[in-house]
Amino acid sequence: MKFNTKVIHGGQENIDPAYNAVMPPIYQTTTFKQASHGAHQDFEYARSGNPTRAALEKACESIENGNYGISFSSGLAAIDAILKLLEPGDEVISTGDLYGGSYRLFDKIFKNFGIKFHFVEMKNVAAINDYINEKTKLVWIETPTNPMMNIIDIVAAAKITQNHNLLLAVDNTFATPYLQNPLDLGADIVMHSATKYLGGHSDVVQGCLVVNDKSLANKLYFIQNASGAVPGPQDCFLVLRGIKTLHVRMQRHCENGRAVAQFLKTHPKVDHVFWPGFTEHPNHLIAKSQMRDYGGMVSFTTKLGTIESAIQVIENLKVFTLAESLGGVESLAGHPATMTHASIPKEDREKAGIVDALIRLSVGIEDVDDLLEDLDQALLII
Ligand SMILES: *Cc1c(COP(=O)(O)O)cnc(C)c1O
Repeated sequence: MKFNTKVIHGGQENIDPAYNAVMPPIYQTTTFKQASHGAHQDFEYARSGNPTRAALEKACESIENGNYGISFSSGLAAIDAILKLLEPGDEVISTGDLYGGSYRLFDKIFKNFGIKFHFVEMKNVAAINDYINEKTKLVWIETPTNPMMNIIDIVAAAKITQNHNLLLAVDNTFATPYLQNPLDLGADIVMHSATKYLGGHSDVVQGCLVVNDKSLANKLYFIQNASGAVPGPQDCFLVLRGIKTLHVRMQRHCENGRAVAQFLKTHPKVDHVFWPGFTEHPNHLIAKSQMRDYGGMVSFTTKLGTIESAIQVIENLKVFTLAESLGGVESLAGHPATMTHASIPKEDREKAGIVDALIRLSVGIEDVDDLLEDLDQALLII
């Protein structure tokens, strides 16, 4: 089955044995009757499993070409579950330029439980080798990175992790399975904040993991049930509905993202544009080989270089909404240094390129002419 068919039908056979509904019913129930003592039919208690959630997990498996989907109440809850595979003393090598909430979870929560994190610039993945020792258990990658749009070579990273018997987890939120399938490239775990493109309509917070290995899946299902950060059935229904249009939305996100990146590149008020589709992007060739297009995320700096200029631009946008988050049908603009990445110390932030003049755009699927006109008027004010 090809991807565009999978998003609609993947894993969805016999979705409603009771009435053959085309969409899975929202099973708004906490518990399931046992026919006789101990004899339950597939489901017993809704934290452990729910049919609507099971339908969504099957869809996630299908679109990520994996064997086991495990969903969570948020993207961070999904990452939290991965880290609970570890023990005190274990070490993690993480990309340095990553989602601010992931950094906060690593540095403010799991560090206190005795897990050590190395934040490493991975534009050249060989850098990982310098941090591997006998305590290393997990390599954490986000590509494209947020918000600098750096590209990390998943195949090369997987070679390193396989050689040292480490887990490789990839946050695939920005690319989505429409553009990139990390399990096919050698990763052990692919993670999504389904809040973003999978849901796609800015109306649900959710996360998921997909893996191929059965024993790894069983550990993660155990954590899902034992820690309990499970999504409700309504939310599962919404994400499943979102996935059904992922391919058409992504196609337009990519087209509009390309047009916005190219427009900004020649704009007199813009200094630098970060978008992996430019041939001069430092890892453009890797992006080209591991992604099918370049997505809807674009970051740029103003030529004035000041925090005031960046904030003035985002406040003057009219079609783009000034808001946190990304991946919905509507275009959003944000200021990473004071919004999504404020929890990263200024010095570390600037080292990663997240300067005060940086603006991040989640380019939506509106008419591209309106988006370009909006950017132009907001930039010409500064
Ligand atoms: C939003 C996001 C997360 C966290 O997901 P939530 O659903 O907000 O918990 C993790 N990684 C990336 C890249 C994100 O954009």
